[in-house]
This record gives sequence, structure tokens and C-alpha cells, in this order.
Amino acid sequence: MNAFLSSANKEEAWTALEEKVKSCTRCGLSASRKSVVFGQGNKNSRLVLIGEGPGAEEDEQGIAFVGKAGRLLTQILSSVGIQREDVFIMNIVKCRPPGNRVPSPDEMMACSPFLEAQLALIRPEIVVCLGNTPTRWLLRTSEGITALRGRWFQWRGIFLIPMFHPSYLLRNESRKKGSPKELTWRDINSVKEKLDGLKKDFRPTPGAEGKNTDA
Ligand code: SF4
Repeated sequence: MNAFLSSANKEEAWTALEEKVKSCTRCGLSASRKSVVFGQGNKNSRLVLIGEGPGAEEDEQGIAFVGKAGRLLTQILSSVGIQREDVFIMNIVKCRPPGNRVPSPDEMMACSPFLEAQLALIRPEIVVCLGNTPTRWLLRTSEGITALRGRWFQWRGIFLIPMFHPSYLLRNESRKKGSPKELTWRDINSVKEKLDGLKKDFRPTPGAEGKNTDA
């Protein structure tokens, strides 16, 4: 997809993509879904957050990250002065896996062109992967979120950082040093610092997929 589309063309391409996704039957998840959850927010944002897939409330409402986990995500963002409506939030798969199971590789592969097209149109500078599934899928790794969270990677010319999924934080209430919540607070501060530190037009060199930039 052309990365230098005019804003009118981008708008048109975005609408066409959304229509295509909303009528998609490329995988079996289409049979049990109530809604297709395309993603919401600012499609010109420098920051995109990617979760695993819609849950029950998202499926009901057709909106990504609503319910308790969504509200916590909004709070995490606003704790560093990032407004939810200023970022774009989406999932690896756009339809709810029954019983909130992890989407299968076939389902993620089927949905992948949509995620790729969204990213190609948004052209974010930073992607945050929320939890194991998007982290493993995008970085093509079997390493878990506990090992990878808080580390910066270059992924297709985008800075990528894994963070814990907010629903995991809801199950781990402690705020002690080293707890998932405290680590997430550090991670979102790291995102904010990176966002502030990056000049609008600067992009890391494409290639070096999954390359860790911590060192
Ligand atoms: S999960 Fe993705 S590929 Fe599967 S039916 Fe929904 S939109 Fe299509």
C-alpha cells in the first residue's frame, strides 16, 4: 500500500478497508461473532495499541477495549497524559474467539492482511503489544510477555514495545515494586518518553525485524 497517500485517498482507502473487514468471512470466527471489531481511535496517530481479540463486551458493542480492561487501559494511558481518543486501538483478530480462547494461528493469519493494511495506512511510530498473543505474533517469537515487556524492538521501521494486557493487571492488584502494575507504569512512562523524544519525521531504519534496541 502506498505510504504517501493524500489524506483524501487515505480516507477513501480506510473506509474501503473498514467495509471489507466488516463483511469478512475469511475465518471460522465469523460464524459466532456478533460484531466485527475493526478498532477505534485516531487513524493518524503516532501510537497504536494492539491486543489479542475482542472479548464479550467488545463483541456486543463492536468497540475495542471496552469493559473493565478497556477502562483500565484508558487510565494507564491518561496517567502519562495520553488521551485514548488520540491513539488507535485494535486487535490481532477482529472477531471474538468463542469463550475468549486464544485465536489460532490460522485465524491470526487470515486476519493478518487487515492488521497490515491498517498499519500501512496509519503509519505509527510506536506500536504497543498488549499481552502474549500480539507480542508473539508480531515478533514471531515463543518468548513470553514477562520476558519481553518493557523492551524496545524495531519492527518494520516502527518502534515496538510489549506491555502486559490490562486484563492481566486486573487479576494482579498489587502495586509493589516489581508487580505487573508497577512494571506497566514503568512501561507506559517509557512509551511516553519515546513518543516525546521522537521527532515527527524520524523513523528507524526498516528491516531488522524483531531486533531488540535495548542495547
Ligand atoms: S477474525 Fe478477521 S479474518 Fe476472521 S472473520 Fe473476523 S475479520 Fe475475517
